Amino acid sequence: MVHGGAGALDNVKDDKTAVRYLESIRRILEHGREVMELGGSALQAVEACASLLEDDPVFNAGCGSVLNENGKVEMDAAIMDGRDLSAGAVAAIDNIANPIQLARLVMTESEHVMLIAEGAMRFADHCGMERAPENYFYTPDRVEQLKQARLKNKIMLDHDDTEEDSEDQKYGTIGAIALDPMGNLAAATSTGGIVNKRMGRVGDSPIVGSGVYADNETCAVSATGYGEDFMRTVISKTISDFIYMKEMNADAATRAGIEYLTRKVKGRGGVIVIDHNGNCASGFTTKKMIHGWIEHGGEAVVRF
Ligand code: ASP
Repeated sequence: MVHGGAGALDNVKDDKTAVRYLESIRRILEHGREVMELGGSALQAVEACASLLEDDPVFNAGCGSVLNENGKVEMDAAIMDGRDLSAGAVAAIDNIANPIQLARLVMTESEHVMLIAEGAMRFADHCGMERAPENYFYTPDRVEQLKQARLKNKIMLDHDDTEEDSEDQKYGTIGAIALDPMGNLAAATSTGGIVNKRMGRVGDSPIVGSGVYADNETCAVSATGYGEDFMRTVISKTISDFIYMKEMNADAATRAGIEYLTRKVKGRGGVIVIDHNGNCASGFTTKKMIHGWIEHGGEAVVRF
């Protein structure tokens, strides 16, 4: 399963941009399945899918990342392996084309789970990861979006649905989760965060248990929405706990998680979930969430 962010995107059928999202999601799902058909693990599949989503400027991750209060890109990403709960995360980084790949290196090549800012960038250099130039990230759309956020004096989701003109807002943050034929679950989430955020603000996406979680005994989860709401409810681990402690399936656990998110903090956003039996589920409190899934032998299904 993959998602391209929760929020609003109305009039889908008439919107060329929506078709663009749809095609991108479908192509990436097919690629993820191919990775596993060729013997790749769930972890390899989610890294590959997240990287492709980061490479597509319509999404709020990698090259399409939104801008912070200073007009700068600061990205967060995390990856988790359900086999042994190993995880890697980076936060407040810039000039890296694929933050998810740096997160994977933190997991496999360092003794830590999370590296941030300058320390993460030094680690990237140490690993020989190339730095992408500034102009790789600054799309005219993002500059305009920051201008609008500054005018309204607000901090907002890439695809905020709280404004009257929400139809014009676009989807954003990305995530990928997978179950491979060996029964291994993995999850990846990557984002530019929220528009006009304070410098140094870190959201839920790189926080294990909030924006991302994977445990072979329960499920894989990737979240999108207002990170602060997800951090306070530790939403991804909460959904995993519903499966672990209450023996729920993906669908019931997702509904229970969304109910908890709403009741406790009026949380705005959504999640995608695959449980250890391969059941797929999604839930969101925003108007929409672009997401899709593909199974062995089936067609890709994309939902707005
Ligand atoms: N969850 C992300 C954050 O708060 C934003 C998003 O999902 O669009 O950084």
